[in-house]
Amino acid sequence: MKNKLLILLVIFSCLSLSTHGYSASAAKNPFRTSILLPIGMNQQPIMKIAIAQNVDQINLKFNTIFTLVDIETGKLLANRLTFKDVSLKGSEKGIHINDKIFNARNVRLMSQDKLVQVRERVYRSNLIIIKDEKNKLTLINEIPIEDYLKGVLPMEVSPRWNMEALKAQAVAARTFALFQALNANPESPFFLKRDVSSQVYAGKTVENFRTSEAVNLTRGQILTYRGAVFPAYFHSACGGKTTSADSVWGVWKHPSLGGVQCGFCRGTKHYTWKKEMSFQDMKLKLAKEKIKIGAIQKVQILDRDRSGRVESVNVVHSTGVKKIKGSTFRRIMGYDIFRSTLVELKSASGSLLKIVGNGWGHGVGMCQWGTKVMADKVFRYEQILRFYYPSSQVTQAYSSPKGSRISGTISNWWTSLKGLIS
Ligand SMILES: [Zn+2]
Repeated sequence: MKNKLLILLVIFSCLSLSTHGYSASAAKNPFRTSILLPIGMNQQPIMKIAIAQNVDQINLKFNTIFTLVDIETGKLLANRLTFKDVSLKGSEKGIHINDKIFNARNVRLMSQDKLVQVRERVYRSNLIIIKDEKNKLTLINEIPIEDYLKGVLPMEVSPRWNMEALKAQAVAARTFALFQALNANPESPFFLKRDVSSQVYAGKTVENFRTSEAVNLTRGQILTYRGAVFPAYFHSACGGKTTSADSVWGVWKHPSLGGVQCGFCRGTKHYTWKKEMSFQDMKLKLAKEKIKIGAIQKVQILDRDRSGRVESVNVVHSTGVKKIKGSTFRRIMGYDIFRSTLVELKSASGSLLKIVGNGWGHGVGMCQWGTKVMADKVFRYEQILRFYYPSSQVTQAYSSPKGSRISGTISNWWTSLKGLIS
């Protein structure tokens, strides 16, 4: 029972942290918010998600035999490897799999049952291993987007929610992932990370029949605005109003990411909250970011955006005043303390900051708790998505749930995009 409770707590803390930010590391243009949907897309794209980065050694488990291919030369390095437990590491000589050394820098591992366990989690499909010049390894899960989404949804929303809310989440997450793939830098070996900096992904281990059903029922469906894909951000709860992507990250303005009056999340569990933080803790956190200031006396809100979120603050201290952008201040203080920037601040007794806030997350795009309430009020997923992403359309990008194909030119557009598929 205790263990079950612990697992539930872990799951809920993950849900509450589903506040993905903007992952600029692998992006070709970190400011872009619109990419035309290629014509004639007829197959599901392959995602590449970094599941471990810069590790010296890592353990894998297999149930079945697996093969090893050198990605650079296309050469089959080993067929029918029978190790169940694998210790993986890199050296000057190449990639080590237990006592065998393979002279390669980038390899693809494919098991017969299409499953591989990395640390505590099982992942579907293939594993790509990249060894850098320092012999550190990066592990990438190479997986069709539909299977990928089945490992995302249970981490982002509760599988117990109404099916229409789960379907809305599936379409938003598919759109977000597709945008990141299309906007990926060709030199980057992966499009997404597995944490809140992209969207949380935990592989086959967390799959649930209800969230997987929501993925299947919306297969191939994405959001577009005038035929273009946009990064369909979402967050846990907006606290009343959502805000615009450009005001939070300085990205290009987008009509579907401008913010709406939500209200549906009113009364749900993250709608209002209170936190405290000592000035001493704040000073330490700022120092870690190389922001050196004197003894903090108070924190003042300078300005707010149209949704009421704090755009910038003044930290008044013994030797001056430091102005900090609201979203930067939230990141530095920690997303668990500053759950949002929709806050009122009160400096108490010269040593403590009292924070009263609304919502959890960056506040851009879909409000997940609002989605839950809308679905409970019998809104359909297309209506929910159009509400949170105004002027957007649900578009069938590739084969529909019934297996029908979109009409038009059937060109293999996906493989023509260099670096997106191997
Ligand atoms: Zn809301």
